[in-house]
Amino acid sequence: MQTFYLRNEKMSDFEHSFRHALLQWFRQSARDLPWRHNPSLYKTVVSEFMLQQTQVKTVLPYFERWMKIFPNFEALASAPVEAVLHAWAGLGYYARARHLQQTAQRFVQNPPRSYRDLLTCPGVGSYTAAAIASIAWNEPIAVVDGNVVRVLARVFNYSEIFTSKAAAIVWATPHAQRLLDKKHSGIFNEAMMELGAVVCTPMAPDCKHCPIRTLCKAFREHTVEICPHFHSTPHFKKTVNRLWILTNEALLLEPSRIGNKQLWELPKLTEERKVQFSNLKELFRAKRSITNTTYTEVVYQPHPLMNENRSEMFFEAPIFEGCRFVPIAELHTVALSGPHRRWIVRILEDGNTDKG
Ligand code: SF4
Repeated sequence: MQTFYLRNEKMSDFEHSFRHALLQWFRQSARDLPWRHNPSLYKTVVSEFMLQQTQVKTVLPYFERWMKIFPNFEALASAPVEAVLHAWAGLGYYARARHLQQTAQRFVQNPPRSYRDLLTCPGVGSYTAAAIASIAWNEPIAVVDGNVVRVLARVFNYSEIFTSKAAAIVWATPHAQRLLDKKHSGIFNEAMMELGAVVCTPMAPDCKHCPIRTLCKAFREHTVEICPHFHSTPHFKKTVNRLWILTNEALLLEPSRIGNKQLWELPKLTEERKVQFSNLKELFRAKRSITNTTYTEVVYQPHPLMNENRSEMFFEAPIFEGCRFVPIAELHTVALSGPHRRWIVRILEDGNTDKG
């Protein structure tokens, strides 16, 4: 086992210096974020759900809008699920929206009162529970995510290879818990997350302005760039083909088959569908990454659009089951996934499509 703290330095002195430097920096430099204005339990819960797997700058406009539509637990708990999904559309990982509403229902009916209670709420894992319990109730539980792992691995100059993110979190948790300022748990956790997000970043850490650089072993030993070490994960590539059927100013969409059936997407161009068309023209392609897979999404349009006496009736055949035409003017009323909404706008703006 490595000795993490510095030679001739007692852990208690180290802890004290670490907490003092971190909290002083955070009090002076914390970002002005909307959930930090007049903070409330509800704002903390909503922001923590939105920030799961999504960056702060993406969350900001959604959070402001959400607070106007659903200003408290009661409003969110009693809203139709369609309205909740619609307000969430574009943020991705839609199970979070359902879980957030179910958690709001718990807060209305039988409010959780501790970290342990929170762990029984839908969509709340140990990280989210620690963040909410410490920020809202000052419960002394350290948050540990990728940002916190990176800060701690560098501070202690941890040189072993992490085989996974989960293994890194297992390593970091006792260290984070020991460093936690138990009297100011919420603000300490926020400060740790903030430091990892804006100063101790993965590619270009700003060590020069880091409040804890004198305590950071990787900084002293010039190993910041290679710390932490992770096993490189295998990367997969997949291609997804889709159809663009625009006729009478209405676009054919189908319910999402990835997790949430109430989201709409451009229909998949399955082999079964492909054989129905004699000629297909590529309209658009885009790439996106989800976890360790890069997806190339290619959108095709039948060319010409309506040959062989095909009409809108044709798309009611069993192979298009569930699909429906949505007028372009009404697309804003439909819960589309964020990437699909962007692609549709791009394709319409490019104007290379055949009109049916
Ligand atoms: S000194 Fe650099 S590497 Fe160390 S914690 Fe600060 S930003 Fe991260």
